[in-house]
Amino acid sequence: MTLDALIVGAGPNGLSAALTLARAGLRVQVLEAHGTVGGGMRSLPLTLPGFVHDYGSAIHPLAAASPAFRKWPLHAFGLDWVQPGAPVTHPLGGGLVTLERSLEATADALGADGPAWTALMRPLLNDWEGLLHDILRPLPRVPSHFFTLAQFGIRGLPPAGALGKLLFRTPEARALWGGLAAHTVLPFSAPGTSAMTLVLALLAHAVGWPFPRGGAQAIPDAMRAYLEFLGGSVITGVQVSSAADLPPARVTLVDSSPGVLLNLLGDRAPTAYRAALERYRYGPGIQKLDYALSGPVPWADPRVARGATVHIGGTLDEVARSEAATPTHVSQHPYVLAAQHTLFDSSRAPAGQHTFWAYSHVPNGSDEDIQDRMEDQIERYAPGFRDLVLARHRTTAPMLQAYSPVFGGGDVNGGKGDLWGLLARPVLTSTPYRTLVRGFYLCSSSTPPGGGIHGMAGYHAALAALKDEFSIQDSED
Ligand SMILES: Cc1cc2nc3c(=O)[nH]c(=O)nc-3n(C[C@H](O)[C@H](O)[C@H](O)COP(=O)(O)OP(=O)(O)OC[C@H]3O[C@@H](n4cnc5c(N)ncnc54)[C@H](O)[C@@H]3O)c2cc1C
Repeated sequence: MTLDALIVGAGPNGLSAALTLARAGLRVQVLEAHGTVGGGMRSLPLTLPGFVHDYGSAIHPLAAASPAFRKWPLHAFGLDWVQPGAPVTHPLGGGLVTLERSLEATADALGADGPAWTALMRPLLNDWEGLLHDILRPLPRVPSHFFTLAQFGIRGLPPAGALGKLLFRTPEARALWGGLAAHTVLPFSAPGTSAMTLVLALLAHAVGWPFPRGGAQAIPDAMRAYLEFLGGSVITGVQVSSAADLPPARVTLVDSSPGVLLNLLGDRAPTAYRAALERYRYGPGIQKLDYALSGPVPWADPRVARGATVHIGGTLDEVARSEAATPTHVSQHPYVLAAQHTLFDSSRAPAGQHTFWAYSHVPNGSDEDIQDRMEDQIERYAPGFRDLVLARHRTTAPMLQAYSPVFGGGDVNGGKGDLWGLLARPVLTSTPYRTLVRGFYLCSSSTPPGGGIHGMAGYHAALAALKDEFSIQDSED
């Protein structure tokens, strides 16, 4: 029997599209190149026996808050969120600054900058679900939560560096803001960089920055189990290279890069559409280090251990310098984004031992070895760190692209996140999931709302396919 829907790729967006279509009653099949599902949210045995490492995503505020994920009973299929002691710690000088779950506790700890933090966050926190509904979708839409979106727009449009200095006076608040802004993978002078910075801070107060017990793999495993419960099927170990590899289906949704999409469309892609996709831009890549450690990271300030996520890089200016460099080179003092799951989830390592997950930004496609620079930065706040290393695994930007074409040149967001990169993702239309070839949709993070584990690109692509080909109108939206 012909499939209703075929999904190429079992990343968060492919699985999200599959679930949305299966919940609408369609016959759905997913094809995945790797041996297990998950894409950028898989866990792999990268170092020693007994250590579970998250190959891609480590910390999941976007998944916990995602309007799509929150519709699904993933907990019934094994997903168990772990909330660390604090969403983020950021060592600074001899001490630290902490982003707490509680807005009030964060503001209290920020002292003189507490009122500014509260004034920035409170109006957005009051309607965070409405805000996410409006921003985790293609942007040129009539918002359903206009007032909150307007407040967000005013705060989010300025460059993060300028806004951080305008709003905050203390080095602590500024550093906290800078550590969050570095997730944009853009220079802090870029317009709009405050938007993602705000979203990440807001989610800490709204849902925390949790991670799945046992490894990120628990998310796709739960999604796959729910999909199979709904009657969908998944076939792994299948690389789809051309249209000839595609089983017949009424709609095909591609959780891959614009380049792979073009290969699958072949001559059917109109010339102008092909040219637009060939111009698709990626941002800087990353280099990642996964560690097996004989003990917990020896932070100079032990309170850094309250966070599963640690922003390492010093002051706002230091982090800004590091991120300004990455399009062309890696700073001598790079910003390091780190995660220490095993302090809160002992199932991921042998008793008394620990994992450590860390990456820094590098120029797109670079495989220059920056291990020493990253470890020097960690040692700056955790002297003796290197002495604990039992084994390490390095992933370069080209390795990431080979792993999933979505991560072009090692760009974890599947495309540049500047204002144009968010608007024209991959082309400027109100429904960028449609490909101009009837029945074919792009559903990866190279479509809105971009990178992160939230499944919203797959969700909205599936809604478009349901409307176009099955006359099912916004059944879930
Ligand atoms: C190192 C790293 C750290 C990250 N950290 C975080 C984090 O902490 N929190 C967070 O929210 N996000 C994080 N991200 C970002 C997040 O992982 C990505 O934004 C997300 O995985 C993108 O989802 P996707 O479905 O678009 O693509 P992918 O996750 O790449 O999935 C695409 C899937 O499709 C398969 N596929 C592609 N083409 C084909 C084909 N032709 N045939 C068959 N199969 C195919 C691929 O094998 C892959 O499994 C991180 C990413 C990386 C790489």
